[in-house]
Amino acid sequence: MNSSLSGAYRGRFAPSPSGPLHFGSLVAALASFLDAKSQSGQWLVRIEDIDTPRIVKGASDLILKTLDAYGLHWDEEICYQSKQLDFYQHHLEPLLNANQLYACQCTRKQIKALGGIYNNACRDINLPFDNQAIRIKQNYPVKTFNDAVQGQVLVAETFATEDYILKRRDGLFAYQLVVVLDDINQDITHIVRGADLLEPTVRQISLFKQFNKKAPNFAHVPLVVAEPGFKLSKQNYAPSIDISKPQLALYDALRFLGQNPPIDLIKENVADLINWAVVHWDLTTVPRVNEIQLIKNDNAPHCQFLAL
Ligand code: GLU
Repeated sequence: MNSSLSGAYRGRFAPSPSGPLHFGSLVAALASFLDAKSQSGQWLVRIEDIDTPRIVKGASDLILKTLDAYGLHWDEEICYQSKQLDFYQHHLEPLLNANQLYACQCTRKQIKALGGIYNNACRDINLPFDNQAIRIKQNYPVKTFNDAVQGQVLVAETFATEDYILKRRDGLFAYQLVVVLDDINQDITHIVRGADLLEPTVRQISLFKQFNKKAPNFAHVPLVVAEPGFKLSKQNYAPSIDISKPQLALYDALRFLGQNPPIDLIKENVADLINWAVVHWDLTTVPRVNEIQLIKNDNAPHCQFLAL
């Protein structure tokens, strides 16, 4: 039976705590929440605090507080990746024993000089693992997948076949590895997130194959950009959303997602607004574009959007 009909839909929102929630992360959180709840699913929150140098103190708590204020209430216990290190290491071991991993000494600079794609140079030279990046032999290359919003996605052959890093030289586990292990561990059936993660999805699907697991369904909603090619992000100081006025940002996020919310919604309480959004959620009206530019006009009450 279709998992959404059996009630077994399990979605998630997985923010990295590198700053407070901004409009771009709200769009991703809202889309994944509405897709889950409109199919009577569970919606989990995972704090991706694996990349320790990028973590901002207090950001996780603030993100959770903001989600709560915005009526995006999660199911089950929050998963913190920083508490899962043994679990990740444990799942690297079988790959290691099966000779699927190797140490790589190539620097970022060297790879850049090769055109940005690694040439698998260290695959057969058996370097010791200490203090080196660990790469996986790409034995399950995936070039294409079907995305519920973006349609058929195709990536370059060179990207699909590249041996990529699972553990960094600084000892940190790579995003690709931990996101897949957690999605498996939490039985995630549907991933709804921003289109900046379209390309890495092929690697994640290949890792699901490597672990002999079925990959979830993917839906990548347009990315909010400040300018073409420039993601609205914590790194470029996107303003955090106002925790005291959720209705305005939620209304704008629904418009961004092509949901056509009636203007009167901004006068409702947050729970009623969210309820309207769950009942009316339609993934087919989400714009099928990779990016939408956010245009702020201080004289207008709401943001304007420009599909790119
Ligand atoms: N932690 C990632 C981010 O904040 C999202 C990961 C995902 O949704 O797979 O960009």
